[in-house]
Amino acid sequence: MIVTIDGPAGSGKSTIAQEVARCLGITYLDTGAMYRAVTLLALERGCSLQDEDEVGEVALEMDLRFEAAEDSPSRVFVGARDITEAIRTPSVSQKVSLVAAHPTVRHVLTARQRALAEQGDMVLEGRDTGTVVCPRADLKVFLTASPMERARRRKMQLEAQGVEVSLRTLERELLLRDTHDSSRATAPLRKAKDALEVDTTSLTIAEVVERICTRARALGVSGTEGAGPC
Ligand code: C5P
Repeated sequence: MIVTIDGPAGSGKSTIAQEVARCLGITYLDTGAMYRAVTLLALERGCSLQDEDEVGEVALEMDLRFEAAEDSPSRVFVGARDITEAIRTPSVSQKVSLVAAHPTVRHVLTARQRALAEQGDMVLEGRDTGTVVCPRADLKVFLTASPMERARRRKMQLEAQGVEVSLRTLERELLLRDTHDSSRATAPLRKAKDALEVDTTSLTIAEVVERICTRARALGVSGTEGAGPC
């Protein structure tokens, strides 16, 4: 079974997608981490992020892999280097939409995401996983939340990492990223016509996970050996 979970930044996708994958006992793929990894490497190499060929080359050469870990569902590696934390810094977050808008980059990463999804049951999380990467997914979900609630969640995440940013700044950044992601020409952030839309503003994580898993089970996911309680 393939489940896709798309939505804007801060809508709760990562936490919810990881939990849904755990409940259903299937693999989780964070497609945003792949765009972030290209952005990090391109910044480190001093590429001009506007230069599609240069950034596309970085995506093509990138030796990216996810490794299961105890403290988080997976850690992100490029070659032998663990970049799990480095791809979440504000400098990457502010530039990633620019990189993700390049059709060459999307072409390379979409092909890799499809190849991974072909290996078995999976929950994919991102912006275009239900519309472009896996348009024939068994279950598509589109998560939303109010901009203020999304900024509040992001602030809590950053505070946990010891980073202080004002709510107003975070809200502005999220809305800017939404605008970039939904207005780009290739694979913009959109709800798939047949997606289940869930506004998570006033729901708990458990309530959203339950709603998605109930729908997945109704579609015939019986759970696998690794499945846990929801
Ligand atoms: O989900 P996350 O916030 O980590 O995604 C970072 C960025 O990667 C998004 O703002 C978007 O620009 C890009 N992205 C994308 N398509 C995806 C996943 C992420 O364009 N499927």
